[in-house]
Amino acid sequence: MERVFNFSAGPAMIPEPVLQKAQSEMLAFGNTGMNVMEMSHRSKMYLEIFDETAALLRKLMNVPNNYKVLFLQGGATAQFSMVPLNLYKNMKSDYVVTGEFAKKAAAEAKRYGEVNIVASSEKVEGSDAKFTYIPQLMPEMFTKDADYVHITTNNTIYGTRFTELPNTGNVPLVADASSNILSEVFDINKFGLIYAGAQKNVGPSGVTIVIIRDDLIGNQLDITPACLNYKIFADADSMPNTPSTYSIYVAGLVFKWLDEMGGVPVIQKINEEKAALLYNYLDDSSLFTTNVNKKDRSLMNVTFFSKDADMDDKFVKEAAKAGLVNLKGYRSVGGMRASIYNAMPTNGLKTLVEFMKKFEIENK
Ligand SMILES: *Cc1c(COP(=O)(O)O)cnc(C)c1O
Repeated sequence: MERVFNFSAGPAMIPEPVLQKAQSEMLAFGNTGMNVMEMSHRSKMYLEIFDETAALLRKLMNVPNNYKVLFLQGGATAQFSMVPLNLYKNMKSDYVVTGEFAKKAAAEAKRYGEVNIVASSEKVEGSDAKFTYIPQLMPEMFTKDADYVHITTNNTIYGTRFTELPNTGNVPLVADASSNILSEVFDINKFGLIYAGAQKNVGPSGVTIVIIRDDLIGNQLDITPACLNYKIFADADSMPNTPSTYSIYVAGLVFKWLDEMGGVPVIQKINEEKAALLYNYLDDSSLFTTNVNKKDRSLMNVTFFSKDADMDDKFVKEAAKAGLVNLKGYRSVGGMRASIYNAMPTNGLKTLVEFMKKFEIENK
């Protein structure tokens, strides 16, 4: 069967050359005579893969020397707990609520201390829609002695993103970048901690990337379980126990693919062009629209609607028949969502827009 254009929000597409490389190494990696998933995580051959993967990520994201890169498990969801468990000292934090995952992160932090919701875009004036924009953030909105400020750099469900970072002064900025890590250039120095589950833009599920500034490591609360303690993972190079070895290997192949094409600035430009293909069409269309504030539009998740729910259903079904799959919007949002992460080729966007034009003419 031919491969489809898979617009899934995650797990999502993996670059085809990466799948081919993994396939070619399925029975024997190099001259080891075994697959990577059969190797001890303590073996020399696996540590070479691991170290190369970590070094490539540092290179791609230009990670300064005073930050650690960790490969953890438990998804972004485990970070919702790890962040407060490890960063709370004054037992208070600021959260900017721009979507469902931000809400979940804030709810988890509340179990351990005070949480101030400094801004939320859940209610949209004059509309039933939710989270269609990123709130304006001023330095004076943040709590002076908060232990950190938490944001979600890209809102996977609603299709918004921060196009500029808030100025939080001396308070560390913590970011959930699960759905736009490696899609655009981030200045790591602006963050205390960035985390991301892998299954959107990095590789298979099962590994979570954490980039954390050294001074934020080692202040965990006494109740922090060992498996949720950044210090224990930092001291043991992410391996106090068995990491997600195969997912890390595939992530490494994705990093090589990205590095060989020229790195994050190059993919950012491609992502901007890809997203523009769809947004430009949506702005012109008389059938399809998006309700996301123009300035805050995501490059990774494009949400849109046709004229009613029945037409949305029809569109999603016919698109799937044409090899454009997983375009249905998130259950509580409705409509459509095209997730167009790094691995989605430009041709996928061209094919989608052509299909939408044809559908529009046929359904006038
Ligand atoms: C997918 C996603 C999550 C949840 O990730 P898990 O790995 O399933 O825990 C959290 N935050 C954002 C922004 C996401 O896109």
